[in-house]
Amino acid sequence: ATSSDEKTVALTTTPSDSPTIFDKIINKEIPSEIVYEDEKVLAFRDISPQAPTHIIIIPKVKDGLTRLSMAEERHVEILGHLLYVAKLVAKQENLDDGFRVVINDGPLGCQSVYHLHVHLLGGRQMNWPPG
Ligand code: IMP
Repeated sequence: ATSSDEKTVALTTTPSDSPTIFDKIINKEIPSEIVYEDEKVLAFRDISPQAPTHIIIIPKVKDGLTRLSMAEERHVEILGHLLYVAKLVAKQENLDDGFRVVINDGPLGCQSVYHLHVHLLGGRQMNWPPG
C-alpha cells in the first residue's frame, strides 16, 4: 500500500475499541515477522514498510488503549515500556545514526488500527515536517 492508501484507510476507519488485526498477530492467528517479544509487548515488521526498517510495537493487552488520546494514569508504565522497547529494537536493527518513533492518533493523525502502537522507522534520512 502507498502512504495515500494508508490515509484512505485511516479516514474510512471508525475509531472503536473492537478487536483489531493486531489481536490476530498477538494470538499468532496470522503470520508476522516478530523482531522482539517480552511479557508485555510485541514488535513485528510493518506489512507496508515506509522505510528500510519499519517496525510496529504494541502492548499485548490493549486495556482500553485504542489510541494515545485514550491514555489514562494506569497506562503510564506500558507507555514508557513501549518507548524503551523502541530503543532496544533500534539497537537490534543497527539504527546507530538515528531513527524515528511515531504514534498516529485518530483520523487526523492518520491512525488506521485502533490498538495503540508505536512505529519505529529507520535506515534512511527522514524529512521534517512529516506529511
Ligand atoms: P497506523 O496508520 O498508525 O494506524 O498504523 C497501522 C500500521 O499497521 C500501518 O503502517 C500498516 O501498514 C500496519 N499493518 C496493518 N496490518 C498489518 C499486518 O497485518 N501486519 C503488519 N503490519 C500491519
